[in-house]
Amino acid sequence: MTDASTLSHMNIKDMSRRWLKRGEGGRLHAENIPLHHIADVVGTPFYCYSAGALRDNYARLKAAVAASGVSICFAVKACSNINILAELARQGCGMDIVSGGEMARALAAGTPPERIIFSGVGKTRAEIHGALEAGVYQLNVESQAELDIVAAVARETQIRAPIALRVNPDVDALTHAKITTAKKDSKFGIAIGEIPALYAAASARPELRMVGLAVHIGSQILDLTPFRDAWSALAGLVRRLRDDGFSVERLDLGGGLGIGDDIQAGPDLAEYAAIIAATVGDLGCKLNIEPGRWLSGRTGVLASEVLYVKQSAGTPIAVIDAAMNDLMRPALYSARHPVLTDGPARAVEPGSDDVCRIVGPICESSDDFGKYEGLGTVLAGDLLVFDNVGAYGAAMSSTYNSRDLVAEVLVDGERFRVVRRRATIADALQLEQPEAWHSKKNPVG
Ligand SMILES: *Cc1c(COP(=O)(O)O)cnc(C)c1O
Repeated sequence: MTDASTLSHMNIKDMSRRWLKRGEGGRLHAENIPLHHIADVVGTPFYCYSAGALRDNYARLKAAVAASGVSICFAVKACSNINILAELARQGCGMDIVSGGEMARALAAGTPPERIIFSGVGKTRAEIHGALEAGVYQLNVESQAELDIVAAVARETQIRAPIALRVNPDVDALTHAKITTAKKDSKFGIAIGEIPALYAAASARPELRMVGLAVHIGSQILDLTPFRDAWSALAGLVRRLRDDGFSVERLDLGGGLGIGDDIQAGPDLAEYAAIIAATVGDLGCKLNIEPGRWLSGRTGVLASEVLYVKQSAGTPIAVIDAAMNDLMRPALYSARHPVLTDGPARAVEPGSDDVCRIVGPICESSDDFGKYEGLGTVLAGDLLVFDNVGAYGAAMSSTYNSRDLVAEVLVDGERFRVVRRRATIADALQLEQPEAWHSKKNPVG
C-alpha cells in the first residue's frame, strides 16, 4: 500500500508526517533514529512517538484557532504517558481529564491545575473531592445527580465548584457507532431541553459557580458539519440562558477532530477554525477545545517483529509479536492502521497476490489486524510498523494473556529514550502477592 516513493513524497506539507521517513535502503526512521536500532535496544513490540511532531501539531492547531482565542486541552485518555503530557504542557497546553488517575498524570506532567478540565460521566465523590482540592479550572457535569454530589462535596470542602453543564445536542457525529457520543439516546451529557431549568436551579446554589456549557459529540470526525450543528445549538442555548438572566462565560467545544491517513484526507484546520468563529465566535465566551486524537494520533507508531509466516486458505499469515492487548483498536472498532515494512517490499512469487494477513498471538479470533496489500513477501524476523497509533494505542493496552505491557519510546531529534519500560511478568506477579485473609467477623483483622 505504501512504498518508499509514496511515503517520501506524500504529506510533504503535513508537518506531523515529516518525522517518519525512509533513510538509506528504505529503512524507516523516527526523526533521525532508525527504528530497527530502537528495536535492537528496547526489543519489540514498542510504541515510538515523535516529540517534534507533537510540538508541531500543537503549534499548528493553536495557530489555526488563535483568532477566536481558543485554548487547547489535550484529552489525556488518548495518550496518557506523562512524558507525552509534559511535552504538551511545556508548550502551554492544558489537559482534559476523565478520572482521578488522569488528574494525577496531568499534574505530574507539570500542568497547572487552572488548565485542567474534568470531564466524564461517572466521577466518584473522591475524584470530585480531589479535583476541588487541586483547584481545577472546571468540572463538566453530566447529570442532575452528579450536580448534587458536586454541591455536597463543595459544601464539605468549602471550595466553590466551577461548573459547566455538558449538553447533549442530539447530533449525529457521522463516525463509528462506538465513538459517537451526542445522539439522543447516548449515555453522555444532559438533554438540551433540560439545560435551562437545571442551569437556573444550579445558579441559585452558593456552593456552585456556573461558568458555562460543554459539548463533545464523538471522535474521529472528518465531516465537519456535525460540529457546526452542535456548536450552533450551543450558541442558541447561550442566548437563551442570557435572556433568562444567567451568565455564561465559557464554552468547551469538545474534542473529536479526526485525522486522515494515506487513504482519506484529514480535516481542514482553517475550515474547523472558521466554523468555531462562525458559530460561537461572537458570544464573548472564553472558548476551549479538547482534542485527543488530532494532537497525538499521527505522532506514534507501533513496531513489531514477525514471528512466523504460515498459509491459510492460500493467503500468507504473518504472526507478529504485537497483539490486540497492545493495540486494541482493530479488534474494538474494526480500525485499520497503515502498515509499513522496514525497507522496500520484497517481490512476491509470480502469479501470487500481494496480500498478507497480519495477526497477533492471542487466543482470540479478533486478535487480527486484517489483510494488507503491497507488503510483498513478509518473512519471520521482519519489522512491521503500524502507523497513526499515537492515540488510543498504548493508552488502551493491557496485559491480557499475561503478556508484558508494551514499552513506549520517545524520539526527539537525534535522541530517543524509553518513557515507559516494558512491564514484565515479574511486575504482574508482584501485584498478585496475596494480602492477609479478611474474616467475616473481623473484617479488618
Ligand atoms: C474522548 C474525549 C475527548 C477527545 O476525543 P478525540 O476524538 O480524541 O479528540 C474530548 N473530550 C471528551 C469529553 C472526551 O470524552
